[in-house]
Amino acid sequence: MFNTNILTRFNNLETPFYYYDLDLLAQTLQACAYASAQYNFHVHYAMKANFNPKVIDKIQSYGFGADCVSGGEVKAAIEHGFDKGKVVFAGVGKSDKEINEALDREIFCFNVESVQELQIINDLAKAKNKTASVAIRINPNVDAHTHHFITTGLEENKFGVNTWELPAVAEALGQLPNLQFLGIHFHIGSQITDLSVYKNLCVRVNELQQWFEERNLPIKVLNLGGGLGVDYYEPDENPICDFASYFKVFNDFLNVKPGQEVHFELGRALVAQSASLVSRVLYVKNGIKKNFLILDAGMTELIRPMLYQAYHVIENLSGKERVKNQESGIKNDESGKEVLSPESGILSLIKYDVVGPICESTDCFRKDVELPESYRGDIIVVRTAGAYGEVMASGYNLRDRVQSVYSE
Ligand SMILES: *Cc1c(COP(=O)(O)O)cnc(C)c1O
Repeated sequence: MFNTNILTRFNNLETPFYYYDLDLLAQTLQACAYASAQYNFHVHYAMKANFNPKVIDKIQSYGFGADCVSGGEVKAAIEHGFDKGKVVFAGVGKSDKEINEALDREIFCFNVESVQELQIINDLAKAKNKTASVAIRINPNVDAHTHHFITTGLEENKFGVNTWELPAVAEALGQLPNLQFLGIHFHIGSQITDLSVYKNLCVRVNELQQWFEERNLPIKVLNLGGGLGVDYYEPDENPICDFASYFKVFNDFLNVKPGQEVHFELGRALVAQSASLVSRVLYVKNGIKKNFLILDAGMTELIRPMLYQAYHVIENLSGKERVKNQESGIKNDESGKEVLSPESGILSLIKYDVVGPICESTDCFRKDVELPESYRGDIIVVRTAGAYGEVMASGYNLRDRVQSVYSE
């Protein structure tokens, strides 16, 4: 993905920054829009994955809806041109202020996570003489087979309504006149790469929608959430998710009745591969047991490795360039003329702990990363950083806010 021209560009820029490949983003959006259109599926972009203005403007331009988890995201989505009729609002802890603002903005649907929340939304809607459209977020107790820190659909997780609470939900829906019941919602976790998980989810959803229909609560919207994973290990081989296979699972296994709409909320799968975090080596510390590469970026720019042990490919672009030059190396012949010597050796790989500058011991991108011998000033890229990267940047240690650079 990265060539010599890009390295020259990066060398001339102040680091650290997020580099956005807007062409790859466009291709990814195109692929998702095409694959979902095969089945008339509706896709909402999960705003929390990345709300860089250029990124969300691009996503909006493809006609996706927005999946929001805070009042700020609802506001940003509408300000960036997302159709209010395609905005959904989830979250276990919606405040009264957030609910009121979303009511004023007349969003498509509240994905409600408890009986108590149903009552509050009803009361707030009543005070405004409005009706709120709601879907029930159900915790289906389906194992997402992903990292335990990013699984959300098990009974031990805080999200959604557990199935034993559904009778209380049905009763509440019958008694709350300022709510309009739209359907059921699920989101069982993130970075899901095993598609059989989604098949299991479909089976549960089919049972649950039956349960609602039997209680005279017809379902118009089936919202299956997001969570489709990306390839963090081989970003160049698999830059775009297999959206066709993903949507096909739902087409094959979900029981969709006439007139029902099927909705999704994808975040990571749409944006992860289109950004890298670009930084420079500040210092190389060689110890007896350890070699440290100390970067000018750390957990304040990209916290995923420190927060949930996430893996990212880490490359030394400057080192790669040196290896390339050496492999096709220029050597002098007997007369002193420069000649190419293709057989000249490959520079040795060294293991480094790649760490940031923050005053926390956990501020480490990864231990024992094999890289070409590295020097102060080398450009290091952390790949697949477009999802849950820039959005989680913080000002800890009173550091400058991370910058963004775009391919166009
Ligand atoms: C975070 C989130 C998503 C998106 O998850 P990804 O793994 O990024 O696809 C979708 N729906 C809800 C309710 C979420 O909280």
